[in-house]
Amino acid sequence: MAEKPFPAWEYHVHSTYSDGSAPLPELLQRARILGIDRLIFTEHTEKELTEEGEWFARYWQEIDLLRKRESSITILCGLEVPITDYEGGLLLDEPMRDRVEFVLGAVHAYPGLSSLVGVGPEELVEREFRGLMALAVNPLVDAIAHPGGTCQRLGVPFPLQHFARVVQEATRQGRAIELNPAYHSPLLPYLEICLQHDAWISPGSNVHHPEEIGWAMHNLRKLQKKIKF
Ligand SMILES: [Zn+2]
Ligand SMILES: [Zn+2]
Repeated sequence: MAEKPFPAWEYHVHSTYSDGSAPLPELLQRARILGIDRLIFTEHTEKELTEEGEWFARYWQEIDLLRKRESSITILCGLEVPITDYEGGLLLDEPMRDRVEFVLGAVHAYPGLSSLVGVGPEELVEREFRGLMALAVNPLVDAIAHPGGTCQRLGVPFPLQHFARVVQEATRQGRAIELNPAYHSPLLPYLEICLQHDAWISPGSNVHHPEEIGWAMHNLRKLQKKIKF
């Protein structure tokens, strides 16, 4: 029996509303060319990364307008939302909370640490792990962005056993795990852990430019040829 290819989804996209280089219609056009059938925009909520003022209302309205005209792609209004503490706090205001359709929870910085100077690798791993576990049990979160990725960007490997514990908890709680080739490289060990735990996979390419759309899907389909899933 022929295996079904990994679905044509892209769940991690930034436009000019935050720190991406292209406006929404251009990203949508690229997704259409690639045959993506589900596209989730996930603007940052950190103020230093977004447009000024009431940008969220404009973002939501533009998405609403685009999807009324779009027949081939399901478009969702999402946000990539960082933790503000280790007890469930998220950088998400009331108007956002009311309208957002997909919350990609993220550990981008480590609450309680004002500087990374002199902070040892064990502590970074520990803080990232605690932040990810807080996201795993947070009912507002749909998927967890690039687990372990922030540590890794700082040059500190995030142990696969920790990743596995996050996957296990998130899956038990009904949240998806993002597999993101911009952070998870090589992707295979992370995918294997997700498959082992029967996790929901959120394919995210960390798109900041149109040409990056579909990277996660493409990588997952390549791996599908090596291991069946
Ligand atoms: Zn960004
Ligand atoms: Zn992120």
